[in-house]
Amino acid sequence: MGKSKDQFLHLRQSRKEQRHYSVQDVINAEINLEPLECVNCSSTEVTYHQYVGDAYCSDCGVWQGESQV
Ligand SMILES: [Zn+2]
Repeated sequence: MGKSKDQFLHLRQSRKEQRHYSVQDVINAEINLEPLECVNCSSTEVTYHQYVGDAYCSDCGVWQGESQV
């Protein structure tokens, strides 16, 4: 579990430096890298953001949780 915490802290640190995340940041962090598919546009450019507990499509900009509510 300590490893996951380190990865999370690394993401927060990247955010401070860059002011926003890139997909590559998540890939580098190796967090929840499932082949997610967007519920809106079926793109696979969807990354799960553990800090908010939701996934975001970088193609259409839809948070996956929104359409599930
Ligand atoms: Zn999409």
